[in-house]
Amino acid sequence: MGAGSVTLIEDEGKRLLVDVGHFGNRDQLRTALSKAGLEPREVDYVVLTHIHWDHCLNVDMFTSSEILTRDKEFNLGTLSGIRDVSTDSFKELLKRMRLKLISSDEFALTKNVRTIDTFGHAPGHVSLTVTEPSGLVVVSGDALPNLRALKRGLPDFVFHDETMARTSIGRIYSTSRDTWKLMRWT
Ligand SMILES: [Zn+2]
Repeated sequence: MGAGSVTLIEDEGKRLLVDVGHFGNRDQLRTALSKAGLEPREVDYVVLTHIHWDHCLNVDMFTSSEILTRDKEFNLGTLSGIRDVSTDSFKELLKRMRLKLISSDEFALTKNVRTIDTFGHAPGHVSLTVTEPSGLVVVSGDALPNLRALKRGLPDFVFHDETMARTSIGRIYSTSRDTWKLMRWT
């Protein structure tokens, strides 16, 4: 349980990390960045799809980066998905960093990368669309974590709103429909 992915995107000379994992992934994350020839300070943007603990606890490694998450997630989200005692101190940590709260749908980070609202799993969950030469790819976090969720139309875990979570899967699928067609298993 609690195995959020970390995705590195490079566009227009900028390096973006989507989610940063948790303590248990810390060494693995350092090693993976190093293999990509990067120090944490060379990451320009860290985008937190949402603030569940398994996606965000290594954020303190990125003191030079701009940290982005949706305003709604910052205001309503929690580390564990339910009210807990650690979220407030984590939000204080974020406030001391270069935090930018995203306040609109389809927020453009670079020419080919933008966030889209995919609420439901968490109150302010965002996904990222990446326009590749081969088509549009969505880094979907926990809004669409696996193929089972696509087939079921709902992620295994919904901490905020089931209807929104279903709508978000539909949005991710329709946004990247042409790319899905390239995959044999759909
Ligand atoms: Zn989550």
